Amino acid sequence: MCERWLEDRVGCDRAHLAKSGTSALEAAALLAGVGPGDEVVMPSFTYVTTATAFALRGATPVFADIEPRTLTMDPECAAAAITPATKAIVAVHYAGVGCDMQAMRALADDHDLVLIEDAALALLSTYRDQPIGGLGDLAAVSFHETKNLTSGEGGALLVNDRRLRDRAEIVWEKGTDRIDFDRGAVDRYRWVGLGSGFGANEITAAFLWGQLECADEITERRRLIWDTYHEAFEDLEVEGLLRRPVVPADRTHNAHLYYLLLPEAHPRASFIDALGARGVHAVFHYVPLHSAPAGLRYGRAHGELGHTDRISARLVRLPLWTGMGTGETDRVIEAVRGAVSSR
Ligand SMILES: *Cc1c(COP(=O)(O)O)cnc(C)c1O
Repeated sequence: MCERWLEDRVGCDRAHLAKSGTSALEAAALLAGVGPGDEVVMPSFTYVTTATAFALRGATPVFADIEPRTLTMDPECAAAAITPATKAIVAVHYAGVGCDMQAMRALADDHDLVLIEDAALALLSTYRDQPIGGLGDLAAVSFHETKNLTSGEGGALLVNDRRLRDRAEIVWEKGTDRIDFDRGAVDRYRWVGLGSGFGANEITAAFLWGQLECADEITERRRLIWDTYHEAFEDLEVEGLLRRPVVPADRTHNAHLYYLLLPEAHPRASFIDALGARGVHAVFHYVPLHSAPAGLRYGRAHGELGHTDRISARLVRLPLWTGMGTGETDRVIEAVRGAVSSR
């Protein structure tokens, strides 16, 4: 039921429930057929497992810079990072806002690359009226407890390229043709390829179903909170005290998270401390992978990643959860107002 729901909402050819978004990414890396000597272009400003999924197969993550508007991979930087060894591109939809998928698709087609969406944060967002997750050859979504819709841990691999459909079934059946056996097409199932235990169990699926049934209500409530923050901070942006998220006109978002970008002159640690002193727990996002110890060992940066370095040092995420009431959003807004003027 969960898989049919995903196929219906995203319009993908096939959905396979996974143990996690990470499992779905690992399955995507396996299906993309990358190995030692191959390169995979991705942003450095992303969660660790965007990269580990491909590094586990022996491929080299090549990190490209983000565009400062949406904090998603800059198509020109991605294009510049492509070499004859490049086999795939991973487009990450940060904060539920879509990456420029038209540009990514053009790059993938021009260079014959597999296009994978890391849509862990972006289920139910759209890009040019099309659901996120339905635009790459493959996409990974997450149902981790920190995401909008959750099964504690969980995820899904979405298959859009029909040529990968049969192999995805084999990967899900742990490298066997069990699905043909279940259909009665063969009289016993055998080991026919690579696969693993990526799939989710029925208990996880049952929990997730309860979330999927409320998916639109959850998105709507989160959007109200997101919009409340966004309106409340407009004057602070006008005054140059912070920068708010940008959602381009050709995209809709699922209100996954709300972040603020501080001016370079405002030290982030003191801002977070000032929020803490007002009873608000705020955090930041992503130590860029190209500067992390394993990022240096398993990957490489393409050129200067100036936006990635500057933005990741200035970003602060505000509390946002589905059950948040107006009393709580008001408290956060007051705390932010106090913290921006208290430096
Ligand atoms: C959460 C997340 C993942 C990993 O998903 P899990 O379900 O936690 O394994 C991968 N990429 C991004 C961008 C994420 O936010």
